[in-house]
Amino acid sequence: MNAPANFDVKSDFPGLFTADGARWHYLDTAATAQKPRAVIDAMSRALGEDYATVHRGVYGRSAQMTLGYEAARRRVAQFIGAKSENEVVFVRGATEGINLVAASWGGANLREGDRIVLSTLEHHSNIVPWQLVAEKTGACIDVCPLTEDHCIDLEALETLLTPRTKMVALAHVSNVLGSMLDVRKAADLAHSVGAKLLVDGCQAAPRLALDMAALDCDFYAFSAHKLYGPTGIGVLWAREALLEGMTPWQGGGAMIDQVSFESTTYAPPPQRFEAGTPMITEAIALHAAVDYLAAHGVDQALDRECELASQLREQLRTLNSVTLFGPERSAGIVSFAMEGVHPHDLGTILDEENVAIRAGHHCAQPLMQHLGVPATARASFGLYSDESDIEALMRGIERTQRIFG
Ligand code: PMP
Repeated sequence: MNAPANFDVKSDFPGLFTADGARWHYLDTAATAQKPRAVIDAMSRALGEDYATVHRGVYGRSAQMTLGYEAARRRVAQFIGAKSENEVVFVRGATEGINLVAASWGGANLREGDRIVLSTLEHHSNIVPWQLVAEKTGACIDVCPLTEDHCIDLEALETLLTPRTKMVALAHVSNVLGSMLDVRKAADLAHSVGAKLLVDGCQAAPRLALDMAALDCDFYAFSAHKLYGPTGIGVLWAREALLEGMTPWQGGGAMIDQVSFESTTYAPPPQRFEAGTPMITEAIALHAAVDYLAAHGVDQALDRECELASQLREQLRTLNSVTLFGPERSAGIVSFAMEGVHPHDLGTILDEENVAIRAGHHCAQPLMQHLGVPATARASFGLYSDESDIEALMRGIERTQRIFG
């Protein structure tokens, strides 16, 4: 597929231009995506002329806002192929979603000697919550290794699983390498020993068409800000029966049925897990983000981002001082190292050229240890990326080579 210049889409995103109107080559979408005008406008309306609280108001504006908030939940449910909107819990982000499952499900279901399987490439937010619950319950963590081309090794996963394995928690798409997981296969393996599968979908939700029924996992978490939506909101999807069996992890308003000092009963899911005034305006802006992404076609977005990633890999390969990490087909994310140049120095020089990349450990220190580097440079693409961004990046890299040459 040939990826033509993407000016139509770029013009929807005010964040892709500098203050003096020049192009800003934003290659850090894996950290957070720029926002289209439709999302900014939806958020602005919700904070402005439409603003009121939800659920408790008896006046018209609040009732309207409640409809908007719940419509966002329905839209997300439809977008990810959930059976019902009751399976969609609004959380602050993927991090909170995973912490919720670890604390609530893990706290109730894990016992001393039980096993939790993670992989080498996980983001810290899919490692540390499990370490916290392991410490409390006496469960142990097993680490599934990677294949030679840096994908989660499902054959190795099979050999790690035992009847004591209660949870398998894996990233759908690696935020460092762009490697994609065959979730269905991982789910079949986890279920074969009676374990649950939690999928960290932070990088997948903006790039892969999702269908919870087809994936057959048990929990799926992602953040809106990587999906062209606002910060401060994310989604935890879980099978309704699982949510029904889980106790709240935070208490407060909105998550109760009846409260007395003698005993308190809880609301059914998803409200049981949404204590306090929710992220009202963020949910409405997330709705707009989902509409925007769906209108552009998630499948096309994936093809395009894979194509851009492979073009970049091809061009980087022509430079002999560059080491590439990750599989050949990566979901729009390319990590690399330049001999003799620290990724932070590269990032700083590129910034002078209006090119923004990420440099660091990307919240994946165990993966850095595995790759044998303290940090990588990472370029990541979004809906608005095109070849002109790759050209600008390559110009900056060549200039860096001359400086360090
Ligand atoms: N998992 C992955 C794979 C990620 O890329 C990120 C964000 N970098 C997270 C989890 C955490 O997301 P958030 O900080 O939005 O909660």
